[in-house]
Amino acid sequence: MNLSNENIVHVKKDGIEYLQFRELLKYSDKLVHAYSLKPLQFSDKNEDAEKNYKKICDILGINYKKIIKSAQRHTDIVKDIKEFTNQKFEYVDGFITKAKDIALVTKYADCTPIIIYDNEKNIIGNIHSGWRGTLQRISQKAIWQMVDNYGSNPKDIIVCIGPCIKQCHFQVEEDFINKFKEEFGNVEKYYKYGEKEEGKQKYYFDTTSLIIDYLTEIGIKKENIFDSKICSVCNVDLMSSYRAEKENADRNMNIVMLIDEEEKA
Ligand SMILES: [Zn+2]
Repeated sequence: MNLSNENIVHVKKDGIEYLQFRELLKYSDKLVHAYSLKPLQFSDKNEDAEKNYKKICDILGINYKKIIKSAQRHTDIVKDIKEFTNQKFEYVDGFITKAKDIALVTKYADCTPIIIYDNEKNIIGNIHSGWRGTLQRISQKAIWQMVDNYGSNPKDIIVCIGPCIKQCHFQVEEDFINKFKEEFGNVEKYYKYGEKEEGKQKYYFDTTSLIIDYLTEIGIKKENIFDSKICSVCNVDLMSSYRAEKENADRNMNIVMLIDEEEKA
């Protein structure tokens, strides 16, 4: 199976597989990134996680001992990483950094992975946006932090939306729709009606389109937003999916790091 499309390259190298964005590969002198695929998995309970970090990092040219990650609690908290720390973050669901040689990691089983790159100021972000994070506009908040902390201009920012549960599989109920209505007003364009089950109306929600819309509202150019167009549930053979695997779901990881060009030279 090959998931490559106009935005994504499906890489198979040294026995492992991962996805990369064609757009970010244009800046491969500045940054390195990947979204991991099975069998490499990264949940905290996975005994091979450490070994798997080493495996994928060796291929990408990342020091696996200099990774920043969080337990992720579906918050809207984005942390600006100024220097490497062994601190285990918990109530943090996104990172930004201008620091080189420090890899930012987020982990997934259906939630939306978002890599942000300011190619003018050379700043990266790695954001875990599950539906709760999407509701709280975590990706917008990350971009505001880049603006506030580093003077980023949204027009220079590239946004790459990785594999996640897409509308084809994201079945929700009325209470979910109501939460989004409260925050965003009319959200009719983001859902389709599903069947009625036991008297309950089901809906299929498109979180990706909502994210794209609220990022363009703050000045991100539509042509600078790249969607993987890959559904994690449809592709459960290659990626962990909470919807498909329930509590047996492990975690994929999304990694991004700025390269220290001087050190490399
Ligand atoms: Zn699907």
